[in-house]
Amino acid sequence: MSNEAKPKKQVLIAEDDPVSCHLLKSLLVKWDYDVSVETNGLAALRILEGDETLRLAILDWMMPGMEGVQICQRLREHKNRPYVYVLLLTARSEKRDLLRGLELGADDYLTKPFDAEELRARLLVGERILNLQDELIGAQEELRFRATHDALTGISNRAAVMDALRNELSRQVREQRSFGVILVDIDHFKNVNDTYGHLCGDEVLQAVTRRMKECIRPYDTVGRYGGEEFLIIASNTDAVGTLALAERIRGVVESKPVVAQAGEVRVTASLGVAVSTDARSTDPQILLRLADKALYRAKELGRNRSELAASLERVSSTTNPAEGVPLKSGHR
Ligand code: GH3
Ligand code: MG
Ligand code: MG
Ligand code: MG
Repeated sequence: MSNEAKPKKQVLIAEDDPVSCHLLKSLLVKWDYDVSVETNGLAALRILEGDETLRLAILDWMMPGMEGVQICQRLREHKNRPYVYVLLLTARSEKRDLLRGLELGADDYLTKPFDAEELRARLLVGERILNLQDELIGAQEELRFRATHDALTGISNRAAVMDALRNELSRQVREQRSFGVILVDIDHFKNVNDTYGHLCGDEVLQAVTRRMKECIRPYDTVGRYGGEEFLIIASNTDAVGTLALAERIRGVVESKPVVAQAGEVRVTASLGVAVSTDARSTDPQILLRLADKALYRAKELGRNRSELAASLERVSSTTNPAEGVPLKSGHR
Protein backbone atom coordinates (compact mmCIF):
# COMPACT_ATOMS: atom_id res chain seq x y z
CA MET A 1 0.00 0.00 0.00
CA SER A 2 1.51 3.31 -1.02
CA ASN A 3 1.08 6.60 0.78
CA GLU A 4 0.06 5.07 4.07
CA ALA A 5 -2.66 7.22 5.61
CA LYS A 6 -2.53 8.10 9.28
CA PRO A 7 -5.20 6.03 11.07
CA LYS A 8 -8.26 8.10 11.85
CA LYS A 9 -8.97 9.03 15.43
CA GLN A 10 -11.78 6.88 16.72
CA VAL A 11 -14.67 8.30 18.68
CA LEU A 12 -17.82 6.72 20.06
CA ILE A 13 -21.00 8.72 20.26
CA ALA A 14 -23.67 7.42 22.63
CA GLU A 15 -26.77 9.53 22.15
CA ASP A 16 -30.41 8.54 21.93
CA ASP A 17 -31.76 11.74 20.41
CA PRO A 18 -31.70 11.27 16.61
CA VAL A 19 -31.32 14.96 15.76
CA SER A 20 -28.47 15.57 18.16
CA CYS A 21 -26.90 12.29 17.11
CA HIS A 22 -27.02 13.14 13.42
CA LEU A 23 -25.54 16.57 14.01
CA LEU A 24 -22.72 15.19 16.13
CA LYS A 25 -21.91 12.49 13.64
CA SER A 26 -21.78 14.79 10.64
CA LEU A 27 -19.52 17.25 12.48
CA LEU A 28 -17.14 14.52 13.63
CA VAL A 29 -16.96 12.94 10.18
CA LYS A 30 -16.19 16.38 8.75
CA TRP A 31 -13.37 16.72 11.30
CA ASP A 32 -12.01 13.40 10.07
CA TYR A 33 -12.89 11.18 12.99
CA ASP A 34 -13.74 7.52 12.62
CA VAL A 35 -17.17 7.59 14.25
CA SER A 36 -19.25 4.83 15.79
CA VAL A 37 -22.72 5.55 17.10
CA GLU A 38 -24.81 3.88 19.76
CA THR A 39 -28.25 4.92 21.00
CA ASN A 40 -28.40 2.69 24.07
CA GLY A 41 -26.20 3.28 27.10
CA LEU A 42 -25.61 -0.36 27.95
CA ALA A 43 -24.70 -1.20 24.37
CA ALA A 44 -22.26 1.74 24.39
CA LEU A 45 -20.57 0.37 27.54
CA ARG A 46 -20.25 -3.07 25.93
CA ILE A 47 -18.57 -1.52 22.90
CA LEU A 48 -16.14 0.45 25.05
CA GLU A 49 -15.36 -2.62 27.15
CA GLY A 50 -14.79 -4.75 24.08
CA ASP A 51 -12.63 -2.43 22.03
CA GLU A 52 -9.54 -1.08 23.76
CA THR A 53 -8.62 1.04 20.74
CA LEU A 54 -11.59 3.30 21.49
CA ARG A 55 -10.18 6.08 23.63
CA LEU A 56 -12.56 8.97 23.09
CA ALA A 57 -16.28 8.93 23.92
CA ILE A 58 -19.05 11.49 23.78
CA LEU A 59 -21.77 10.27 26.10
CA ASP A 60 -25.23 11.67 26.46
CA TRP A 61 -26.34 11.89 30.07
CA MET A 62 -29.90 10.59 29.67
CA MET A 63 -30.16 7.44 27.59
CA PRO A 64 -32.08 4.18 27.66
CA GLY A 65 -30.11 1.22 28.98
CA MET A 66 -27.64 3.16 31.06
CA GLU A 67 -26.97 6.82 31.82
CA GLY A 68 -23.78 8.43 30.53
CA VAL A 69 -22.48 9.01 34.08
CA GLN A 70 -22.98 5.34 34.94
CA ILE A 71 -20.99 4.36 31.86
CA CYS A 72 -18.21 6.63 33.12
CA GLN A 73 -18.33 5.05 36.52
CA ARG A 74 -18.09 1.56 35.08
CA LEU A 75 -15.25 2.51 32.74
CA ARG A 76 -13.20 3.91 35.61
CA GLU A 77 -13.42 0.54 37.37
CA HIS A 78 -11.42 -1.08 34.55
CA LYS A 79 -7.98 -0.26 35.84
CA ASN A 80 -6.13 -2.19 33.15
CA ARG A 81 -8.01 -0.79 30.20
CA PRO A 82 -6.35 2.10 28.35
CA TYR A 83 -7.91 5.34 29.53
CA VAL A 84 -11.08 6.54 27.81
CA TYR A 85 -11.50 10.29 27.67
CA VAL A 86 -15.17 10.99 28.28
CA LEU A 87 -17.00 14.11 27.23
CA LEU A 88 -20.41 14.18 28.80
CA LEU A 89 -23.17 15.75 26.78
CA THR A 90 -26.17 16.96 28.71
CA ALA A 91 -29.27 19.04 28.57
CA ARG A 92 -28.84 19.55 32.28
CA SER A 93 -27.19 22.78 33.00
CA GLU A 94 -27.48 22.84 36.71
CA LYS A 95 -24.07 23.11 38.21
CA ARG A 96 -24.86 20.40 40.76
CA ASP A 97 -25.44 17.83 38.02
CA LEU A 98 -22.30 18.72 36.16
CA LEU A 99 -20.18 18.45 39.27
CA ARG A 100 -21.62 15.00 39.89
CA GLY A 101 -20.76 13.96 36.34
CA LEU A 102 -17.16 15.05 36.79
CA GLU A 103 -16.97 13.38 40.18
CA LEU A 104 -18.18 10.13 38.71
CA GLY A 105 -15.42 10.07 36.13
CA ALA A 106 -16.28 12.32 33.19
CA ASP A 107 -13.34 14.38 31.96
CA ASP A 108 -15.35 17.24 30.52
CA TYR A 109 -18.90 18.19 29.66
CA LEU A 110 -20.84 20.17 27.16
CA THR A 111 -24.42 21.33 27.55
CA LYS A 112 -26.93 20.96 24.76
CA PRO A 113 -27.44 22.77 22.47
CA PHE A 114 -23.67 22.83 22.01
CA ASP A 115 -21.51 25.08 19.94
CA ALA A 116 -19.67 23.17 17.19
CA GLU A 117 -16.36 25.01 17.58
CA GLU A 118 -16.45 24.54 21.32
CA LEU A 119 -17.01 20.82 20.84
CA ARG A 120 -14.08 20.64 18.46
CA ALA A 121 -11.80 22.49 20.87
CA ARG A 122 -12.82 20.25 23.75
CA LEU A 123 -12.15 17.13 21.69
CA LEU A 124 -8.67 18.46 20.92
CA VAL A 125 -8.08 18.88 24.64
CA GLY A 126 -9.13 15.25 25.08
CA GLU A 127 -6.73 14.08 22.40
CA ARG A 128 -3.92 16.09 23.93
CA ILE A 129 -4.52 14.45 27.29
CA LEU A 130 -4.66 10.98 25.73
CA ASN A 131 -1.39 11.63 23.91
CA LEU A 132 0.26 12.79 27.12
CA GLN A 133 -0.99 9.71 28.87
CA ASP A 134 0.33 7.44 26.13
CA GLU A 135 3.73 9.12 26.35
CA LEU A 136 3.74 8.65 30.10
CA ILE A 137 2.85 4.98 29.81
CA GLY A 138 5.52 4.54 27.12
CA ALA A 139 8.10 6.15 29.40
CA GLN A 140 7.04 3.96 32.32
CA GLU A 141 7.31 0.83 30.19
CA GLU A 142 10.74 1.85 29.02
CA LEU A 143 11.84 2.43 32.62
CA ARG A 144 10.43 -0.93 33.64
CA PHE A 145 12.28 -2.60 30.77
CA ARG A 146 15.54 -0.90 31.69
CA ALA A 147 15.16 -1.85 35.33
CA THR A 148 14.74 -5.52 34.47
CA HIS A 149 17.01 -5.98 31.45
CA ASP A 150 20.70 -5.96 30.84
CA ALA A 151 21.70 -3.08 28.58
CA LEU A 152 24.44 -4.95 26.70
CA THR A 153 22.67 -8.21 25.89
CA GLY A 154 18.99 -7.24 26.18
CA ILE A 155 18.17 -10.28 28.32
CA SER A 156 16.90 -10.26 31.91
CA ASN A 157 19.31 -8.71 34.38
CA ARG A 158 20.35 -10.33 37.63
CA ALA A 159 17.42 -8.95 39.66
CA ALA A 160 14.89 -10.09 37.05
CA VAL A 161 16.32 -13.57 36.62
CA MET A 162 16.38 -13.94 40.41
CA ASP A 163 12.70 -12.96 40.47
CA ALA A 164 12.02 -15.57 37.82
CA LEU A 165 13.86 -18.13 39.94
CA ARG A 166 11.81 -17.30 43.03
CA ASN A 167 8.61 -17.53 40.98
CA GLU A 168 9.66 -20.87 39.57
CA LEU A 169 10.42 -22.18 43.06
CA SER A 170 7.03 -21.22 44.40
CA ARG A 171 5.33 -22.64 41.31
CA GLN A 172 7.05 -25.97 41.70
CA VAL A 173 5.82 -26.22 45.28
CA ARG A 174 2.26 -25.56 44.07
CA GLU A 175 2.40 -27.72 41.00
CA GLN A 176 4.78 -30.41 42.23
CA ARG A 177 7.13 -30.39 39.31
CA SER A 178 10.84 -29.86 39.03
CA PHE A 179 12.87 -27.39 37.04
CA GLY A 180 16.53 -26.92 36.31
CA VAL A 181 19.01 -24.09 36.65
CA ILE A 182 22.19 -23.71 34.66
CA LEU A 183 25.03 -21.35 35.47
CA VAL A 184 26.99 -20.64 32.31
CA ASP A 185 30.44 -19.10 32.57
CA ILE A 186 32.50 -18.22 29.52
CA ASP A 187 35.94 -19.81 29.70
CA HIS A 188 38.99 -17.58 29.90
CA PHE A 189 36.93 -14.60 28.99
CA LYS A 190 39.48 -12.24 30.46
CA ASN A 191 41.81 -13.37 27.71
CA VAL A 192 39.29 -12.29 25.07
CA ASN A 193 39.36 -8.78 26.50
CA ASP A 194 43.14 -8.83 26.89
CA THR A 195 43.74 -10.13 23.36
CA TYR A 196 41.04 -8.40 21.33
CA GLY A 197 39.87 -5.52 23.53
CA HIS A 198 36.88 -4.88 25.73
CA LEU A 199 34.56 -3.96 22.84
CA CYS A 200 35.25 -7.30 21.24
CA GLY A 201 34.51 -8.90 24.61
CA ASP A 202 31.14 -7.15 24.53
CA GLU A 203 30.43 -8.51 21.06
CA VAL A 204 31.26 -12.00 22.28
CA LEU A 205 28.86 -11.62 25.20
CA GLN A 206 26.13 -10.57 22.77
CA ALA A 207 26.85 -13.45 20.41
CA VAL A 208 26.90 -16.01 23.22
CA THR A 209 23.57 -14.61 24.44
CA ARG A 210 22.04 -15.07 20.97
CA ARG A 211 23.31 -18.63 20.81
CA MET A 212 21.89 -19.48 24.22
CA LYS A 213 18.53 -17.96 23.32
CA GLU A 214 18.37 -20.20 20.26
CA CYS A 215 18.54 -23.23 22.56
CA ILE A 216 15.93 -22.37 25.16
CA ARG A 217 12.18 -22.75 24.99
CA PRO A 218 9.92 -19.67 25.12
CA TYR A 219 8.99 -20.32 28.75
CA ASP A 220 12.58 -20.73 29.92
CA THR A 221 14.49 -17.71 31.16
CA VAL A 222 18.03 -16.65 30.45
CA GLY A 223 19.51 -13.77 32.37
CA ARG A 224 22.86 -12.11 32.81
CA TYR A 225 23.93 -13.15 36.27
CA GLY A 226 27.23 -11.31 36.35
CA GLY A 227 29.96 -10.13 33.96
CA GLU A 228 30.44 -13.23 31.78
CA GLU A 229 28.09 -15.46 33.74
CA PHE A 230 24.55 -16.32 32.77
CA LEU A 231 21.74 -18.03 34.63
CA ILE A 232 19.23 -20.16 32.79
CA ILE A 233 16.01 -21.39 34.34
CA ALA A 234 14.58 -24.36 32.49
CA SER A 235 10.93 -24.83 33.40
CA ASN A 236 9.20 -28.11 34.01
CA THR A 237 12.12 -30.43 33.44
CA ASP A 238 14.39 -32.81 35.32
CA ALA A 239 18.12 -33.47 35.58
CA VAL A 240 18.26 -35.31 32.26
CA GLY A 241 16.42 -32.53 30.42
CA THR A 242 18.46 -29.76 32.01
CA LEU A 243 21.75 -31.50 31.31
CA ALA A 244 20.72 -32.03 27.72
CA LEU A 245 19.97 -28.31 27.45
CA ALA A 246 23.30 -27.43 29.05
CA GLU A 247 25.10 -29.64 26.56
CA ARG A 248 23.22 -28.08 23.65
CA ILE A 249 24.27 -24.65 24.84
CA ARG A 250 27.86 -25.75 25.34
CA GLY A 251 27.78 -27.15 21.82
CA VAL A 252 26.46 -24.01 20.12
CA VAL A 253 28.86 -21.76 22.01
CA GLU A 254 31.88 -23.69 20.76
CA SER A 255 30.37 -24.59 17.37
CA LYS A 256 31.80 -21.68 15.41
CA PRO A 257 33.91 -18.63 16.10
CA VAL A 258 32.24 -15.35 16.97
CA VAL A 259 32.80 -13.00 14.08
CA ALA A 260 33.59 -9.71 15.76
CA GLN A 261 34.97 -6.43 14.39
CA ALA A 262 38.40 -7.26 15.75
CA GLY A 263 38.46 -10.73 14.23
CA GLU A 264 37.15 -14.22 14.71
CA VAL A 265 37.10 -15.34 18.32
CA ARG A 266 36.64 -18.90 19.47
CA VAL A 267 35.02 -19.24 22.88
CA THR A 268 33.83 -22.07 25.05
CA ALA A 269 31.75 -22.14 28.20
CA SER A 270 31.55 -24.21 31.34
CA LEU A 271 28.15 -25.01 32.79
CA GLY A 272 26.95 -25.99 36.24
CA VAL A 273 23.55 -27.67 36.43
CA ALA A 274 21.28 -28.12 39.44
CA VAL A 275 17.72 -29.34 39.65
CA SER A 276 15.13 -27.98 42.04
CA THR A 277 14.47 -31.38 43.61
CA ASP A 278 18.16 -31.61 44.60
CA ALA A 279 17.86 -28.46 46.66
CA ARG A 280 14.88 -29.77 48.64
CA SER A 281 14.23 -26.21 49.63
CA THR A 282 12.46 -23.13 48.41
CA ASP A 283 15.58 -21.08 49.03
CA PRO A 284 16.98 -19.93 45.68
CA GLN A 285 20.43 -19.51 47.22
CA ILE A 286 20.73 -23.23 47.93
CA LEU A 287 19.95 -24.11 44.34
CA LEU A 288 22.38 -21.49 43.07
CA ARG A 289 25.09 -22.74 45.41
CA LEU A 290 24.64 -26.24 44.02
CA ALA A 291 24.85 -24.99 40.44
CA ASP A 292 27.87 -22.89 41.31
CA LYS A 293 29.64 -25.87 42.84
CA ALA A 294 28.96 -27.88 39.71
CA LEU A 295 30.29 -25.03 37.59
CA TYR A 296 33.42 -24.87 39.71
CA ARG A 297 33.93 -28.56 39.11
CA ALA A 298 33.45 -28.10 35.35
CA LYS A 299 36.20 -25.50 35.44
CA GLU A 300 38.51 -27.72 37.45
CA LEU A 301 37.94 -30.66 35.19
CA GLY A 302 39.17 -28.77 32.17
CA ARG A 303 36.39 -26.31 31.13
CA ASN A 304 34.13 -26.53 28.06
CA ARG A 305 31.95 -29.03 29.84
CA SER A 306 28.70 -29.40 31.78
CA GLU A 307 28.55 -30.80 35.29
CA LEU A 308 25.56 -31.84 37.33
CA ALA A 309 25.32 -30.82 40.98
CA ALA A 310 25.03 -33.33 43.79
CA SER A 311 26.08 -36.06 41.47
CA LEU A 312 29.48 -37.09 40.28
CA GLU A 313 28.05 -37.95 36.92
CA ARG A 314 30.38 -36.60 34.29
CA VAL A 315 28.49 -35.40 31.32
CA SER A 316 30.86 -34.52 28.63
CA SER A 317 34.44 -34.65 27.83
CA THR A 318 35.03 -32.26 25.06
CA THR A 319 37.28 -30.77 22.51
CA ASN A 320 40.64 -29.39 23.33
CA PRO A 321 40.16 -26.02 25.01
CA ALA A 322 43.39 -24.85 23.44
CA GLU A 323 41.34 -24.34 20.29
CA GLY A 324 39.67 -21.51 22.11
CA VAL A 325 41.31 -18.38 23.39
CA PRO A 326 44.68 -18.92 25.05
CA LEU A 327 44.53 -20.69 28.40
CA LYS A 328 45.52 -19.00 31.58
CA SER A 329 46.16 -20.71 34.83
CA GLY A 330 43.69 -20.82 37.68
CA HIS A 331 39.93 -20.90 37.45
CA ARG A 332 37.14 -18.42 37.66
P1 GH3 B 1 37.37 -18.67 33.77
O1 GH3 B 1 37.51 -19.61 32.63
O2 GH3 B 1 38.01 -19.21 35.00
O3 GH3 B 1 35.97 -18.27 33.99
O4 GH3 B 1 38.21 -17.38 33.38
P2 GH3 B 1 37.69 -15.94 33.01
O5 GH3 B 1 38.81 -15.20 32.40
O6 GH3 B 1 36.47 -16.07 32.18
O7 GH3 B 1 37.24 -15.38 34.40
P3 GH3 B 1 37.58 -14.08 35.18
O8 GH3 B 1 36.58 -13.99 36.28
O9 GH3 B 1 39.03 -14.03 35.53
O10 GH3 B 1 37.32 -12.91 34.16
C1 GH3 B 1 36.08 -12.49 33.78
C2 GH3 B 1 36.27 -11.30 32.90
O11 GH3 B 1 35.03 -10.85 32.35
C3 GH3 B 1 36.88 -10.15 33.62
C4 GH3 B 1 36.00 -8.97 33.24
O12 GH3 B 1 36.78 -7.87 32.85
C5 GH3 B 1 35.22 -9.48 32.09
N1 GH3 B 1 33.92 -8.83 31.97
C6 GH3 B 1 32.93 -8.75 32.88
N2 GH3 B 1 31.89 -8.04 32.39
C7 GH3 B 1 32.24 -7.66 31.14
C8 GH3 B 1 31.58 -6.88 30.13
O13 GH3 B 1 30.45 -6.42 30.28
N3 GH3 B 1 32.23 -6.70 28.95
C9 GH3 B 1 33.49 -7.21 28.75
N4 GH3 B 1 34.06 -6.98 27.59
N5 GH3 B 1 34.12 -7.90 29.69
C10 GH3 B 1 33.51 -8.14 30.88
MG1 MG C 1 -30.68 11.43 25.79
MG1 MG D 1 34.75 -17.06 32.97
MG1 MG E 1 33.04 -15.76 35.91
